[in-house]
Amino acid sequence: MRLAKFLSVILTVCACTTVGAQKLAIHYINTGQGGSTLIIGPDGTKVLYDFGVKGGKAALVPYLHALLHDDKKIDYAILSHRHKDHYYGYFDMVEAGIDVRVANFEPDGPKLDSSQLHSNWYIPAEKTTAGKVRTIPVGLAISLGDSATMYVVAANGILMDGTRVDVVNENDRSVVLFISYKNFQFLIDGDLGGGTENCSGHQTTQTDVQTYVAKTLINQKLITSEYGVDALHIAHHGSESSSPLRYIALMKPEIGLVSVGNPNCKYRHPRRDVISPLISAAPEVTPLLGSSFDSCPSINTLQAIYQTDKGTEDCDLMPIGKETLNDGIIGGDIILTTNGNETYTIKTTGRVFLNGVKSQNGVVHTEAYCVDEYETEDEQNEQTCTARKP
Ligand SMILES: [Zn+2]
Ligand SMILES: [Zn+2]
Repeated sequence: MRLAKFLSVILTVCACTTVGAQKLAIHYINTGQGGSTLIIGPDGTKVLYDFGVKGGKAALVPYLHALLHDDKKIDYAILSHRHKDHYYGYFDMVEAGIDVRVANFEPDGPKLDSSQLHSNWYIPAEKTTAGKVRTIPVGLAISLGDSATMYVVAANGILMDGTRVDVVNENDRSVVLFISYKNFQFLIDGDLGGGTENCSGHQTTQTDVQTYVAKTLINQKLITSEYGVDALHIAHHGSESSSPLRYIALMKPEIGLVSVGNPNCKYRHPRRDVISPLISAAPEVTPLLGSSFDSCPSINTLQAIYQTDKGTEDCDLMPIGKETLNDGIIGGDIILTTNGNETYTIKTTGRVFLNGVKSQNGVVHTEAYCVDEYETEDEQNEQTCTARKP
């Protein structure tokens, strides 16, 4: 079924002054076992996508205070979906005097009758300048300055090209944001599902919305089937519910970003059987009987996975292959910056926690990567990015 055509209006809201050419910055804030990502456009537009778990006072609020200095405002607050590991920190943020200027958005879907959701999201939203939480329009495009644009690709199973996927699980209602900035592309999709996949043995009750997202990006010409995106959110904290190889094969990311906390014994995120095939051509997992990774669509292995924290330590054993894999760079807060031209840089702060208490396990790390359209070349012992030959 087709929906209304993709909204062609591009919203420009930032009244910020741009001094010289600024960069696009994507901050994965380590809030523990949950998610919170701050996107700052080249013109200073600020979009906060999710607000992390309870205890925002300890993780989200100090981070925002340090970053925003005296200008304690963000432009958009977008809740990916109505689960508390994504909305809980919003209350603390508003209590701490951080205002939302333009809009508080969430995906359409049944309004959950939860007092926690009301007291931590709907009620504090009304205290902000933007006011009442509204349903996010699918197809909305928000200008982030200097030709960087953020598109609302999907929410509640409805995609910007009119495709409609029947969803029942709240995770599958997740708002999907896609950012394009010259040669750089990034996608974030909360806890969106990728469905069951026989070749990898992944079982889930979540629906495959992710593959439709990838196909929509290609048919809307937002990504090419040759290069896909540069950096990709690994949905649902690296759960088996998401990231099937058929989706990764279309998205072609070089970098994966996982928002996860230590410990999470209940879920064992990020899961070995999800992460290992992404970073190794010979994954150290055996899929369930009767399936084989050999029959999965082939993918280019990612150059790196970054995770905000260790997934878990010292939990009871899970079935072989379904345990946690902590092979990503355990970075604490992860900050990606780019001017959209030839490279993007990822910096980590090492700010990690164990049971909510700061621990010493995080890595402080900075690394630059070439965008897809460029390749690494050694020039007199210095690595540069040069345009790929057509
Ligand atoms: Zn979650
Ligand atoms: Zn969720």
